[in-house]
Amino acid sequence: MPRVLDGKVIAEQVRENLKDRIENLRSIGIQPKLVVVLVGDDAASASYVRSKQRMADKLGMAGDVRFLPVTVTQGELIREVEQLNADPTVDGILVQFPLPSHIDTEAVLAAVDPDKDVDGFHPYNVGRYATGSPVIWPCTTAGIYEILKRSDISIAGKTAVIVGRSQIVGWPTGQLLLTHNATVIQCHSKTEDLRKFTLQADILVVAVGQAGLIGADDVRSGATVIDVGINRVDGRLVGDVDFESVQEKAGAITPVPGGVGPLTVTMLMHNTIELATRRRGLEKWGR
Ligand code: NAD
Repeated sequence: MPRVLDGKVIAEQVRENLKDRIENLRSIGIQPKLVVVLVGDDAASASYVRSKQRMADKLGMAGDVRFLPVTVTQGELIREVEQLNADPTVDGILVQFPLPSHIDTEAVLAAVDPDKDVDGFHPYNVGRYATGSPVIWPCTTAGIYEILKRSDISIAGKTAVIVGRSQIVGWPTGQLLLTHNATVIQCHSKTEDLRKFTLQADILVVAVGQAGLIGADDVRSGATVIDVGINRVDGRLVGDVDFESVQEKAGAITPVPGGVGPLTVTMLMHNTIELATRRRGLEKWGR
C-alpha cells in the first residue's frame, strides 16, 4: 500500500515550528500581524477568512480583517491597501479573491507593498522566484514543498509533472520544483496527450479543478502524487485524482480533504512571519 501523506499532521509540525519563531519575536516586542481585506459578503470567503484569523490567534500572532462593501471602488480599495502598506505594525497583507468584476485584480495586487505581499502574487515576488531567488512562495506551493520535505521525498534529479499552470498554484509549483533541481514538465488545458507526460512523473502535482481527471492508468508505479484539486461531488469534497484507484499504484499520495489544504492556511502564517523578520532585518530572531 502507498504512503498516505497526512497534511493535517504535517501542518501541525509546521505550526509547532512557527510557535517557536513567534515566541522569539515576541520576546523582543514584535508580534507578527496579518491583515486580510475582504470585499463583499460571500459566505465561503468570510468563513475562509475567519479560519485564517483563528489560526493567527492560536499561534499568538496579531490579526485583523478589513470588511469592505461589494460596492467599493477600485480607488477606495487601493487606498485601503496603501494605508496598510504605510502602517508599521502590519507585516502581511492579503486581499481575498475573488474580487467583484468592476475591480482590476492585477492593479490591486500590484498596489500591495511587495515586502508585505504574504500571498507572493506581486509581480516583484513572482520575478524573484522566477529568477531563482525567492523571497516567499505562494502558500499552496510552499505547502507542497513542506509535504515533500517532511515526508523525505527527494526532488533533485526527479521528473516532476505539474498539471495546471495557474498563477496561484500550478506555475509557482513548477518554478519551486525547478529551483530544487527537478526536471519539470508543465501541462495545461492545451496539452495534447496528457497521459504521455503524467506517466513520466516521479512527482505528479495535479492542480486543475476537475474531479477524476487523473486515474490509475495516468500514474507511473511508485510515483508521488500530490492532489491540489478541490471539487464538490454529490456533497462530498474530492480532488482531481481518483484516490481509490491511484492509491493502488502510487508510492505516496495526498488525500482530499486532509492533504494539501491544511498546509495552505498554515503557510500563510509562515509567510507572515518570514516577511515580519525580513522587513526588520531580524532573520536570526525569526528562525
Ligand atoms: P485555475 O482554474 O486557475 O487553473 C486551472 C489550470 O488547469 C489551468 O492552468 C488550466 O490550463 C489547467 N487545465 C484545465 N483543464 C485541464 C485539462 N483537461 N488538462 C490539463 N490541464 C488543465 O485553478 P487553480 O486556482 O489553479 O486551482 C486548481 C484547483 O486547485 C481547484 O480545484 C482549486 O479549488 C484547488 N486549490 C486548492 C488549494 C488547496 O489549498 N488545496 C489552493 C488553491 C487551489
